Amino acid sequence: MNRTGRCACGAVTLEITGEPIGTRQCWCRQCQQIAAGGPTNNAMFKVEDVAITGDLASSTWAAASGNTLTFRFCPSCGTQIHGQSSARPHLVTVRLGALDEGHGLRPEVVIWTDDAPDWAVIDPALERFPRQPPPPPGAS
Ligand SMILES: [Zn+2]
Ligand SMILES: [Zn+2]
Repeated sequence: MNRTGRCACGAVTLEITGEPIGTRQCWCRQCQQIAAGGPTNNAMFKVEDVAITGDLASSTWAAASGNTLTFRFCPSCGTQIHGQSSARPHLVTVRLGALDEGHGLRPEVVIWTDDAPDWAVIDPALERFPRQPPPPPGAS
């Protein structure tokens, strides 16, 4: 299944082939900062499966996991497009909000629940990791 996506202003578009290696919801502090206090919801794809048009701005942070995370976003509207970890440079973590409707993806795993605020509502049916989980099968 091919998926498409776009930022809020339309300057950045995505075209994704192939299925994600895994999907996750992340409650780390840095994700809360870029996601207005909530978690980020993400799908990991191989770099070569994600084609992006339009300019991206980027920034890097030292992630709670100890890795360096580069995150990319539309410089015009600020929509987060994807992140990329120094631990797995062959993967990109695409923000589900950047995908067009009908993408059919949902978080399968919730991570960094130790950092979630006490009002967070976390699906009890999902597997949880209080901190950084091991990489999903097929990520290496
Ligand atoms: Zn934009
Ligand atoms: Zn996070």
